[in-house]
Amino acid sequence: MSKLFRAVIMGPPGSGKGTISERIAHSFGLKHLSSGDFVRENISAKTEAGVLAKTFIKKGLLVPDHVMTRLLLPRLEEMTKCSWLLDGFPRTLAQAEALNSACDLDVAINLNIPLETLKERLRHRWIHPPSGRVYNMCFNPPRVQGIDDITGEPLIQQEDDRPEALVARLRHYKDIAKPVIDFYKAKGILYTYSDTETDQIWPNISTLLSTKIPTIQSDARCASTH
Ligand code: AMP
Repeated sequence: MSKLFRAVIMGPPGSGKGTISERIAHSFGLKHLSSGDFVRENISAKTEAGVLAKTFIKKGLLVPDHVMTRLLLPRLEEMTKCSWLLDGFPRTLAQAEALNSACDLDVAINLNIPLETLKERLRHRWIHPPSGRVYNMCFNPPRVQGIDDITGEPLIQQEDDRPEALVARLRHYKDIAKPVIDFYKAKGILYTYSDTETDQIWPNISTLLSTKIPTIQSDARCASTH
């Protein structure tokens, strides 16, 4: 039987989590599951959980744990034949515990990026709210300044990416992520990477996964989209 591989990736806003997740999915054939995308899909489809989630997102809050787990865990449980990388979940200890009850993880990747680097990256971040597409005006700009490449609609800078709100937001991330990090450390599956450049971190993650994944057979590999 094929050995399935299950990983989570954690990191604050601006840590390069999305970029690294895409590289992992592409290089190792894991299915990239983004909790933010699940939430947006549910909002678009107006599911019960989606309608509820929207009320929190509109206020800039995290979606409560019981809503997130109800939304996400059934989807994971359906993927019995698939190796995946989960991005954006768990964000809290309660979510980590719920995930732990549902499946065994092989690896938890933790991106520990210096505060100054995060501040600098987020200062240049603009998003297309309906799709969640993110641009960085320095290293991943849209083709036309201020305009989404796909829809031609305007981009905005999120209130909480503005400098005044950033430090509080990053501090909040650290506070809720700490117990999750400790949880995976205690399980012996935590791998932390600290650098200012995604391109410096990537080879180390790639090496780690090369040692962990070779036993996955091709039928356990899945398309790399969410
Ligand atoms: P993201 O695209 O990961 O930034 O997620 C977009 C929004 O969805 C977040 O700002 C949260 O409000 C919500 N969300 C996504 N994942 C989670 C999670 N694991 N726990 C709580 N809220 C979440």
